[in-house]
Amino acid sequence: MSGDHHHDHDDELALRAAALEAVLVEKGLLTTDQVDAIVEHYERDLGPQNGARVVARAWVDPAYRQRLRSDGAAAIRELGYGGFEGGTMVVVENTPDVHNVVVCTLCSCYPWPVLGLPPSWYKSPAYRARAVAEPRAVLREFGVELPAETEIRVWDSTSEVRYLVVPQRPEGADGLSEDELAALVTRDSMIGTGLALEPGA
Ligand code: FE
Repeated sequence: MSGDHHHDHDDELALRAAALEAVLVEKGLLTTDQVDAIVEHYERDLGPQNGARVVARAWVDPAYRQRLRSDGAAAIRELGYGGFEGGTMVVVENTPDVHNVVVCTLCSCYPWPVLGLPPSWYKSPAYRARAVAEPRAVLREFGVELPAETEIRVWDSTSEVRYLVVPQRPEGADGLSEDELAALVTRDSMIGTGLALEPGA
């Protein structure tokens, strides 16, 4: 999972702007050292490995899962993740009957503390439009073929509310530790454009 640290130019600019904003808001002053430190924090500490730990905990701990559903940001903070771009988190759960997909139709709002920076396809006009208009076709292009009777719910992120999908726990994962379970949880499975990996896949 250490390969997720590549950022394109847009991401780098967004990161710098976000860091600048965070410093201005929280400190009321700005130095380049502070900006660099914050950029480093986002690059080193944030990524889908965090969300994967949240999902794995939800899979093994029903009480945690309940807290996650009732106040996503608070439950995510229990594991030490939070802050900028993650203030209000709504956690939605996939079931055999319902599959959730997250998009930001307006721009690229995304839950940074648990997923890091958004992939470029998430920011593309095609994904933003088509995820709403024809989610089943989009999922198929991502390699996710859902039964016709499965309802697809599309969640439109905003600067106020970010979403995290808890994918279905795969079959055959019963004997696995929480760490081993977390390794099955991909970034895309937490956006809804993928499924959790099968053990041994
Ligand atoms: Fe947005």
